[in-house]
Amino acid sequence: MAIQTLLAARIFDGSGADAIEDGFVRFEDGRIRDIGRRADLGSAAAGARDLGDATILPGLINMHTHLTCSGSMDVLGDALNDSYEVKMMRAVENARASLLSGVTTIRDCGTLNDIVFSIREASKRGLITAPHVWASGEVLTSTGGHCWFFGVECDSNDEVRRAVRRQVKAGADFVKVMSSGGGLTPNSNPTASQFTREDMIAIVEDSARLGRYVASHCHGTGSVYNSVAAGVRTIEHCSFWEPSGINYHQDAIDGVVEKGIYICPTLGVGERLRQEQLAAGVTDAYGPMRTGRIDNLRRMHASGVKFVSGNDAGMVKTGFDDFQLDIELLVELIGLSPAEAILTATGQAAEALGNVDFGVLAPGKRADILAVRGNALHDVGALRDLLLVIKSGQTFVDRV
Ligand SMILES: [Zn+2]
Repeated sequence: MAIQTLLAARIFDGSGADAIEDGFVRFEDGRIRDIGRRADLGSAAAGARDLGDATILPGLINMHTHLTCSGSMDVLGDALNDSYEVKMMRAVENARASLLSGVTTIRDCGTLNDIVFSIREASKRGLITAPHVWASGEVLTSTGGHCWFFGVECDSNDEVRRAVRRQVKAGADFVKVMSSGGGLTPNSNPTASQFTREDMIAIVEDSARLGRYVASHCHGTGSVYNSVAAGVRTIEHCSFWEPSGINYHQDAIDGVVEKGIYICPTLGVGERLRQEQLAAGVTDAYGPMRTGRIDNLRRMHASGVKFVSGNDAGMVKTGFDDFQLDIELLVELIGLSPAEAILTATGQAAEALGNVDFGVLAPGKRADILAVRGNALHDVGALRDLLLVIKSGQTFVDRV
């Protein structure tokens, strides 16, 4: 394929460097060729597409999704009652919605193995309109524990090791463990740990032996301490949810920072649920926890925690086409700058995934490119005003 050149008022490469004013990006055969200032392009600027007052940035990485989940008010009922075939079709549609909204990679944090690994393969082969997929497949959970309906139930040190091996054998890119219970699953306890510290250490050790890292779902405080001690790569939610309510533990967060663990707050789910319930005039279930969670995330930010953004797409009222909200909330509620917030869904997310060839715009990287109207570094809301969505050099949205 011929070289394609894009020009825009600003290019944010996702590395954390300042935006290039009046810049260009060139790509060829699905890879970035080069990036720089328009003035340096010379005669090569002929035939370029000039996007004008726009921001070019890496395609977004949604770090927390559940491809088969319905996003309805009855996510649990749908997960328990829908047939395998319905789940597969929903996953295809969710993947499509994701890519068309500007997300060029999803990290799926819990979906039936056969479905998510098939979607990953179909996306790779261009059979469906879908982002690149980085998937855990089925989650490690305790018997009857959080999300057992797409989980491997395991209850002892031997069983957790076997579960890691089973998942890697099935094709997992990383291992997801439900270290505490969760709100979605009846008869699980969100404030209590599902695994001992020794089990968590075994999960991380055996994953590392196989070249995989661990993402750990943590609502309860004990699960955060266990995850930090074991050295997981990412902590999902990190709620410090205790029987008395939301608490905060600076020493655990000091451990997170010291070990370079990333936190994926998934703030949007509660916000959406709250809006829905306030509008319907029913009890605002998330309201009592909200202030505590926001204060905690501000303290984590002040402590130097590296966030990554994921929206828990598929959970209550949370669409695959609305990832941008979670980036916006980091600015509006937690106080990140727009650039810092965008990094949580680009370069910093790629860093959390490991040694990957996407997430930043640099020579040789995968040509996953987003262009939006306006200046997303001033107003992060601009991320919704899509001009171009390009995945591996192929254009899926073109509204220029
Ligand atoms: Zn989740």
